Amino acid sequence: MMVTKGRFMTIVQSSAGFDLHEAPLWEYLATTSEPDSHHVRALLDKARDLGGLDLEDLVPLMAVEDPELLAELFATARFVKESIYGRRLVLFAPLYVSNRCSNECSYCAFRARNQEVVRRALSQEEIAEETRILIRDGHKRVLLVAGESHARDSLDYILESIATVYGVKEGPGEIRRVNVNIAPLTTEDFRRLKGAGIGTYQIFQETYHHDTYAQVHLGGRKTDYRWRVQAIDRAMTAGLDDCGLGVLFGLADWRFELLALMTHIRHLETTFGVGPHTISVPRLEPATGAPLAQQPPAPVDDRSFLKIVALLRLAVPYTGLIMSTRETAALRRETLALGVSQISAGSRTNPGGYTADRRDDMSQFSLGDHRSLDEVIQDITRLGYVPSFCTGCYRLGRTGADFMDLARPGDIKDHCDPNAASTFQEYLMDYATPATRAQGEQALDGFIAGMGDSAARYARTMVAKVRQGRRDVYR
Ligand code: SAM
Ligand code: SF4
Repeated sequence: MMVTKGRFMTIVQSSAGFDLHEAPLWEYLATTSEPDSHHVRALLDKARDLGGLDLEDLVPLMAVEDPELLAELFATARFVKESIYGRRLVLFAPLYVSNRCSNECSYCAFRARNQEVVRRALSQEEIAEETRILIRDGHKRVLLVAGESHARDSLDYILESIATVYGVKEGPGEIRRVNVNIAPLTTEDFRRLKGAGIGTYQIFQETYHHDTYAQVHLGGRKTDYRWRVQAIDRAMTAGLDDCGLGVLFGLADWRFELLALMTHIRHLETTFGVGPHTISVPRLEPATGAPLAQQPPAPVDDRSFLKIVALLRLAVPYTGLIMSTRETAALRRETLALGVSQISAGSRTNPGGYTADRRDDMSQFSLGDHRSLDEVIQDITRLGYVPSFCTGCYRLGRTGADFMDLARPGDIKDHCDPNAASTFQEYLMDYATPATRAQGEQALDGFIAGMGDSAARYARTMVAKVRQGRRDVYR
């Protein structure tokens, strides 16, 4: 099947899966001159309609440098973010179960030949203990992360680990959604992963630029670009319709990466009728024994990074945007206004990191934000956001295209806002420090008062149930 859009031509191979044809993207980037302000404003008007942007619309917007126009671009991103997500922010924590890895990614501390990292794959009891700690902090969602499997950490190990996390009950809480970020699987194995009841399957292409990809992936299965770039095709074919994409920014020209990511998204939409559930925007961070990470080949400065977040929000308004604790608290705050809808908090990136003191000799990369979940919650509520621990959609089968159908006309708000309110109320009663609770209760009242009539009605009823002692109230 051939899809032609403006000057871009994307070959969409439904049966063979996605691969990127780079030439048209480079051609477009090479011919870009200073964008015309009328054109930029027309594109920002288009974005305000909340229908997203075409891939070719991004080219002039990426080139905006004029401070006034850039401020308008950021203001539009803020408008789109608030129109769709309101003040909600979904919170989660990563759970690293193993740092053993058979690949040789030159930017990652877990790479196979790195002798500076102490290797560890957690036992099921250790995973249960880590889970208990996360539950006691107040988490309801985790992102399970591992290196690419060794014989002993095969898919069976991952499936067992997921079951362990779901099986832990600690006081009034439990983990209600396990997302995973693990190496690509076969379609058959993706079916097994779906059977484990995961939320989102995430995988980052790292870089869509073939040459750079070959230069930084020096050994193991991950050297195969197509095996990785077609992972989401296989996952969707296996029925995993909530999938997450990402780029590791700092490896190749960010403007190229953004166009490539959009091409991938359009391929998924055309082939499966649904794009990614989430997009992650990790930036290369220093990592022990990974020299490439100290000196990124294509560094992305803070301003460009904010532009990336804003442009993604304009281009794919209904896709969740995830910001991890790789970034500092100050920068994370800025990205919240521009489009980020999910953040991690209180994270450790070493297996066993929640149980033990910080062990940097086992971490994947260094973190920019070391605050606890409670501190992050206090901060974001002060900024006017409302933390959400909601896991309702996937537990009620609202995934993939069903989720998008509900999200696009804005109907999802009647679910998301009340669910955010009830899960935040749970957090405040069960886990918050007194100061966070006092501030949070006030924020929650204001949040409910600002909802539309029907959402506010649901929210009041659900919050009242939580206050009376019910837990896990969602719709
Ligand atoms: N091993 C699996 C894989 O590579 O797909 C999944 C987990 S890997 C631990 C998760 C992600 O961490 C990678 O996809 C990569 O984008 C990111 N990462 C690796 N090294 C990093 C670094 N130095 N700074 C920031 N992110 C990094
Ligand atoms: Fe292994 Fe993933 Fe790190 Fe590559 S990024 S070395 S595959 S853990």
